[in-house]
Amino acid sequence: VGLIARAASILLFRGSAPPEYLVVRRAEHLRFLGGFHAFPGGKLAPEDARMPIRQAGGGHSEGGDNESIAAAARELFEETGVLLARGEDGDNPPASAKLEYLRRKVLVENLPFSEVLARLGLTIHREDFQSIGALVTPPFVPHRFDTKFFLARLPEAQVAQIWPGELVEGRWSTAAEVLSSWRAGECLVSPPTVAILEALKGVASEEILPHLERVFGLHAGQSLPPIYVAPQVRLLPLFTDTLPPTTHTNAYLVGNEHVYLFDPGTALPKEQASLLEALDTHLASRRPLTGIVLTHHHPDHIGAAALCAERYRIPVYGHAFTQKKLAGKVNFDNLLKDGDRLDLGTTPAGPTPWFLEAIVTPGHADGHLAFFDPHYRLLLAGDMVSTISSVVIAPPEGDLQVYLDSLARLRALNSKLLLPSHGGPSATPERVIDDCVAHRKQRENQLLAALDATPRTISELAQELYKGLTPKMMRFAELQLLAGLYKLRREGRAVATPENQWKMAEQPA
Ligand SMILES: [Zn+2]
Repeated sequence: VGLIARAASILLFRGSAPPEYLVVRRAEHLRFLGGFHAFPGGKLAPEDARMPIRQAGGGHSEGGDNESIAAAARELFEETGVLLARGEDGDNPPASAKLEYLRRKVLVENLPFSEVLARLGLTIHREDFQSIGALVTPPFVPHRFDTKFFLARLPEAQVAQIWPGELVEGRWSTAAEVLSSWRAGECLVSPPTVAILEALKGVASEEILPHLERVFGLHAGQSLPPIYVAPQVRLLPLFTDTLPPTTHTNAYLVGNEHVYLFDPGTALPKEQASLLEALDTHLASRRPLTGIVLTHHHPDHIGAAALCAERYRIPVYGHAFTQKKLAGKVNFDNLLKDGDRLDLGTTPAGPTPWFLEAIVTPGHADGHLAFFDPHYRLLLAGDMVSTISSVVIAPPEGDLQVYLDSLARLRALNSKLLLPSHGGPSATPERVIDDCVAHRKQRENQLLAALDATPRTISELAQELYKGLTPKMMRFAELQLLAGLYKLRREGRAVATPENQWKMAEQPA
């Protein structure tokens, strides 16, 4: 189970009716929501705890969120150059060459932020930061953040300037402008940013706070939060019985006039109740629920499929192999072949037809289906790649070469957003697939190095190559190894003895 780090984020606005917000794009290499637009902010640093904050009317504030305010002010200065602090006269400093110089010193030479304020004779004032609530990253990623959000107005005579680094660009836009460009597929926007901007569409600056209460309330409750990873694509992280370090399987609700539920995987009653509550709310808001789609038959992908099909009287879709594997457990109404389309209606941006195309991708499971949306270039990858762990290839069903061929096919799609069953979304699908292939190659090289002329059992090889695993994980490691050995045998690089021991193939003389 991963740790939860504290973070602070800031909604900086200017103007009033409606105000414009500063939205920044995170660099693609960042592990968390790289390539997505979000509000400025970042993790708390040790120095934030020592920063004095002045309260209204003078004196030091002893408020509980001092540290988060200090972090928000520091991150905002580092990321945008905007300095929310005041001098003895009560004024914010104007943009200047000195401010830029000090910002560079912070970024390049790690000059403490408190030193910047001291040199300029400035103090952070509590009333410049309106607290609007906190959000915790849902458990679909191991690196989670508990983020406090603040609202602040851009000081007059200051400008925001993004320097390439962790952020690649920034823009001032109204909530409606960001959302319309998101709907048009022009940019990716982080799910909490989407939720916040939806609540602020057309809202004047003095009305911001009351409009945000509902958003933060929804995400803090027991129900599944509305996580929109793309327009009309909702991620439902469900606790499932899966393999560590993974704890959840992502179900997805995708579509506009026709909406499909992908992989309702949980078999746990409490988690099923949360899923049904979310689906009931979806239907109550007059959204359709057209069918259930299963990417493959593994238990952490199908746990609530029969339950949902019966409760909402909707058909189940999947591949013929999946149907066969689940005979007696789930009834299938529609079988999907390679190239079949699921009609989603029209795109959220307008009257263009929107659909998902089924792609048969065996290797992890026979009959595994991935789905590609050529309009937004979304790839629903199922278990073909994970953004938090490596995918199990367990013979006899799992076949490493077949898996690699399927991955190559997915890579060629030129998709823009990867939506895996395990882990968060990624704006760099090709890089995720390349990393996965490189990891397999590295494992294969280790296996080749371990094989020699003396035959050894799978379990001996596994003990050498995967040290310190629990017995349950060791069993999967042995299966992974077997998948690698089958591939090498097919290539004439490994041989099995009649006693089921493995050795290196003899080199032709
Ligand atoms: Zn699976």
